[in-house]
Amino acid sequence: MTDAINLLSDRYRGLETGELLEELIHAEFPRRVALVSSFGADAAILLHMISTIAPATPVLFLDTKKLFGETLTYRDQLVKQLGLTDVRSISPLPENEAGLDPNGVLWASEPNRCCYFRKVLPLQRALEGFDAWITGRKHYQNEDRANLPIFEMADGRVKINPLLGWRPDQVAAYYKAHSLPPHPLVARGYPSIGCIPCTSPVTADEDPRAGRWRGQAKTECGIHLSADGQITRSVTVQAPRTMGCG
Ligand code: SF4
Repeated sequence: MTDAINLLSDRYRGLETGELLEELIHAEFPRRVALVSSFGADAAILLHMISTIAPATPVLFLDTKKLFGETLTYRDQLVKQLGLTDVRSISPLPENEAGLDPNGVLWASEPNRCCYFRKVLPLQRALEGFDAWITGRKHYQNEDRANLPIFEMADGRVKINPLLGWRPDQVAAYYKAHSLPPHPLVARGYPSIGCIPCTSPVTADEDPRAGRWRGQAKTECGIHLSADGQITRSVTVQAPRTMGCG
């Protein structure tokens, strides 16, 4: 852990999530922090919090062009309901899409490369000018996320995971207390929602993210590498050689 991360961890230890976000947005990283949101199953919590703190906080939404229509509709619904004024929908470059995935099926043969040009590269571009970004990751989602810290360094920026310690019952209670609409796919068995080809429903005894890249070693898209740089369930998947996907 770097000195900067140690300092942040010490400075904000013990704060409630809302208090932490307020400090980060107004004091620690004014105009230099963005929320990266999937507008997925639990996304409304952080979106609601920043709407009450500073609704003009930049929100980066990765539209991979492979998302469920329900997610796009949900995004528009939340933006309107919460009064968010700077939601940026980020997409892969058309030339990358045409050159790397002209038939739209790269996910089936090279999912890491697909995630790299649809998610990793667009996020890298969108984060230019920001010193820090906020994620909605939580410890209970799967094994890979069970030991994450609240503050990390990632590619020279501070990455903040303010919801890590939240439990499913707290998530549900927050939605209820603030009359937040659920993502429509949650009721259909999707507690974690990504791209259509790489997301499936889960059973009650599975991790919430078990339906992501089901049957593959892959567990993360590359914007969230594990501590050792891997993005796999149990075995290492090599990054695409020519593109360096993690
Ligand atoms: S989640 Fe699947 S479809 Fe979406 S970018 Fe990654 S590999 Fe491609």
